[in-house]
Amino acid sequence: MDTNPEIEAFVVNALAGLSLEDEAIAEYFARLVEEESMEEPEKREAITELLADVTEEPTTTIIDEVFEFYNGLQAKKKAQEEEQKAKVLAAAKEKERASLLAELDRRDDNGILSMSSRHVVKNLTKEERRKREALLAQYGFDMDEIVEGDDGELEISYKDRSGSGGKKSSSGTSDPLLQANNNADIVKQKEAARRAEMRKASESERERNKQALEKQRLEKEKEKRRTQKHEKRRISIASTLNTPTQHGPTIALQFKADLENITDLVPADADHTWHFKLECSSCREVDDNWITLNAIDKSEQSSGRGEANLVMKCKFCKKENSCDFLTKPVAYTIENNGKYVSMITMDCRGMEPVAFEPREGWKAKGAETETVFEDIDLTDGDFADYDEKSELPVSISGIEAKFVKLK
Ligand SMILES: [Zn+2]
Repeated sequence: MDTNPEIEAFVVNALAGLSLEDEAIAEYFARLVEEESMEEPEKREAITELLADVTEEPTTTIIDEVFEFYNGLQAKKKAQEEEQKAKVLAAAKEKERASLLAELDRRDDNGILSMSSRHVVKNLTKEERRKREALLAQYGFDMDEIVEGDDGELEISYKDRSGSGGKKSSSGTSDPLLQANNNADIVKQKEAARRAEMRKASESERERNKQALEKQRLEKEKEKRRTQKHEKRRISIASTLNTPTQHGPTIALQFKADLENITDLVPADADHTWHFKLECSSCREVDDNWITLNAIDKSEQSSGRGEANLVMKCKFCKKENSCDFLTKPVAYTIENNGKYVSMITMDCRGMEPVAFEPREGWKAKGAETETVFEDIDLTDGDFADYDEKSELPVSISGIEAKFVKLK
């Protein structure tokens, strides 16, 4: 903002009195004087500090002089503005009066058709003239203020005329001449009401926007939390899966035997009953009982970990453990005689098999023939028979088994 040249010139002069001839200082000084965001004491303080840096002379006097000059200018400016306002007021009043007179003339015209409005005014009855004068007087007195609205526009402020003034009571509000005046009032009131309504509408619109934004923010926040929670849950599931007691190693039952003229030894049925002894991985206790399981039966595990062929609580520590077959049994062949071969694999959680008994329910076939041997019982640890097609004895002996952790 440019400084007022009058003020800057005055400041330059005042500074010359202190033997200070510095354009920059003068300009800054003038700017401070005119600064609209500061009150005078604040401005004076800032100027005093500014001058203290450049002179040791006392500066109070010239600051006083400058502010006296500035305040004089401001007063003059304000007076001019007041005058301008008054002019606007006068013009507005004059316009209202003129339109009121025109209104009166129009009404009178309707009554006395053949006469000009000038004549009408002259020919008003005594009663009509009284009303007209009362109305004009009221108008003149009532329409008395000009105020500056929020938007900086000048507005004529009408006084409240709802009370029963002396002038009004004689004619009554039903008088059409006075109604003309009331109309202006009503229009004004309506306009005020309309503005209030618009302001209210804009405020509630703002409020709605604010609320919508807030809602959006909360929604985002929630989504973020949900994602984080999901992430956390995923991680915790992953770590659960890595816990050895939850996801056991793959364990293979390795089998070895000596086969004579017979091969492809395998459980006869899909629901073959296996007999294991199991050790609890938590308490390291081995249940003395032979535990039976088969690949068809499924039991539900607690805590939603799905099904397994065997689900049981350790009878010592009460921990729930499980064992589930991963593969179908692989038949032991005569070519593997004397060698350990994985027959079946299991996923064991929280326990592992430590002993195996083959017992009954096996089948095999002739090594060189299609003779099928059903219902092989290995309870005694061996089996012997005769293959009629090959006319050779067949036997199974030397059975041994062990469990191996594959991973
Ligand atoms: Zn246990």
